[in-house]
Amino acid sequence: MALIAALLLAPMVAPGVANANGPFVPPGQETLNRSSILSAAEVSAEMHALAARSKGALRIEEIGRSGRGRPLEIAFIGTGETRVWIQGRIHGNEPYGAEASLDFLKTLVSGGKKTQEVLKNISFAIIPIYNPDGFEEYRRQDSVHRIDLNRDWGVDRQIFDQINSVRASRGEAPLPERNFTNYTQYRAVESQQFWYAWADFKPHHMIDLHHQGTYYVGDDTDEMTTFSVGISLDPGMLTQSQWDTVRRMGVAAADAANKSGVVETTLYPYINIPEGVVSAAMLNGPGPRGEYANWRSNAMFFESRGGIGQKSGGYLIKQNVNGLWGIINAMSDGSLANVDADRYNELPARGATITTCIKFPNQCDF
Ligand SMILES: [Zn+2]
Repeated sequence: MALIAALLLAPMVAPGVANANGPFVPPGQETLNRSSILSAAEVSAEMHALAARSKGALRIEEIGRSGRGRPLEIAFIGTGETRVWIQGRIHGNEPYGAEASLDFLKTLVSGGKKTQEVLKNISFAIIPIYNPDGFEEYRRQDSVHRIDLNRDWGVDRQIFDQINSVRASRGEAPLPERNFTNYTQYRAVESQQFWYAWADFKPHHMIDLHHQGTYYVGDDTDEMTTFSVGISLDPGMLTQSQWDTVRRMGVAAADAANKSGVVETTLYPYINIPEGVVSAAMLNGPGPRGEYANWRSNAMFFESRGGIGQKSGGYLIKQNVNGLWGIINAMSDGSLANVDADRYNELPARGATITTCIKFPNQCDF
C-alpha cells in the first residue's frame, strides 16, 4: 500500500529477466517520465469517449468534486446482479490503477461475445482515479488535508473492539481509548462522496489497485516480484464467508497474472487497517454522518512494483488487467466458488526490498 520510492527503480530491458541480476539502472539515473502516465483529464476524456460510443451501455457519473475541485467520476456498466467495484489511484503517486482499470473498461465496452456474457452477469462501478488531486501533485495523500485517503473511512465502537480483540490474540497491546465521534473520520470530501457512492451501489466485491516498492520473491530467491495480492484485514475481523471469498479472489488474480509469463505473484504482508476504504467496506463501517449501509463487501487489493519506466509500464499494467480478468471471469462463469481458498496462503511471501544500492553498493553512501 505504499509506494516506497517511485524513483528507486528502473525499467527492465526485458520483462522476462526478472531477477536481481537484471539490468538495474545505477543511482542517479532513475528517471520517471510522467508524460507516459495518463493525467486525470486524459483519463476522464477517455472514459467519456468510451461512453459516447457505447450506445448507452456505459454511464459516467460525476459523484462530486475533489478538495481542489476536480471531478470525481465513476464508470457504471453492466446489468448483472453481482456488483463489482474497482478503484485505482487512491494513492496519488501510485498511477497504474488508472491505466489498468481503463484498459479493463475498454474491453468491457468493445463488446466481444464473452464480454457480453460478463456484462449480463455483473454490474461494475469503476473508479480509475479516486484521488485526482494527489495524482496531480504526485503525492500519496489528498491535497487539502495531506492525509492518506485510505485511512479516512469510518470505524465505530464495535469495529474498534474487534481490533483490540485481534490485537490481544496476537499478543499486542490494545489501542488507546477513542472518541468515536472522531473515529468516524471522513475528513476529506473524497472519502465522504465515495462512501455515499459505495453505500448506494453496495458492491459484493471490490478490488483496489496500488503500487509498492520492489521486492524479492520470498526470502531465499534471487527473483524479483512485480505483483502482490493482499487482504487489508485480519481474518478475525471477517466472517468465514468473507475470508474464503477474498482469498479465492486473490488466488484467481494470482493465477491469471502469473499466466502473463513475466510475473510471479507474491503475498502482501499481514496488515489490519479497518479505517482503509475497502476494509471499512468489508466491516459495514459507519458513514460520514454515522449512518450505516448495512452492507459488507468482499475486497482485496493488488500491488504492482513501484519501478516505473517506459519499458516496464506495459507489463505492470497488463499484470493488473490479467488479474482483474482472472477474478471477473471466475465470478461470471461461477468457478470462483470452486477455487481452493487455502491456495492463497501457499503463494510465495513477498521478500526483502531490492534497491539500486543493493545492486550498486559502491555507488551508495551507506
Ligand atoms: Zn497504495
